[in-house]
Amino acid sequence: MTDIMTPEQRHFCMSQIKGKNTKPEIMVRKWLWRNGYRYRINDKRLPGKPDIVISRLKTIIFINGCFWHGHTPCDKFKLPKTNTQFWSAKITRNQERDAANHMQLKLTGWTVLVVWECQLKQQTLIDTLQALTIRLSQIYLSQFRPKPTTYAIESDTSFAAENNTDYGNQ
Ligand SMILES: [Zn+2]
Repeated sequence: MTDIMTPEQRHFCMSQIKGKNTKPEIMVRKWLWRNGYRYRINDKRLPGKPDIVISRLKTIIFINGCFWHGHTPCDKFKLPKTNTQFWSAKITRNQERDAANHMQLKLTGWTVLVVWECQLKQQTLIDTLQALTIRLSQIYLSQFRPKPTTYAIESDTSFAAENNTDYGNQ
């Protein structure tokens, strides 16, 4: 991915990579906050008690643990060798519940984003946070497209017509 991060954003990522034991969820929250997004956390009123709710963008972000939510294909998701059937059934139920929650949210107008724990690993953290920022910007633009009648910017060619040589004489 092309690097479009500001030096500050890059610094933040590097500090997160060097810092140990930051929970994935906290990492994403800090990132959003620093980039100007305001949100609620663990909203019990919404299906699935979403980790992050950005009301202004009508967007929800789930930060999913790869094991509990059955991320495939993923290195972090391996069924235990004992009680395999039990775990398999349990994780399938979690996946079904996730799907139902996402559907419910989408039906009520929310955009649902999922960030997986493995995407926040050291090697992929920068790309993931950058992709998240881009996605949120797209959502912002799709929702806040200015009405042409109110904010139309007229094309004025007079700037182009200015004589360039004037600038050199100041
Ligand atoms: Zn994963």
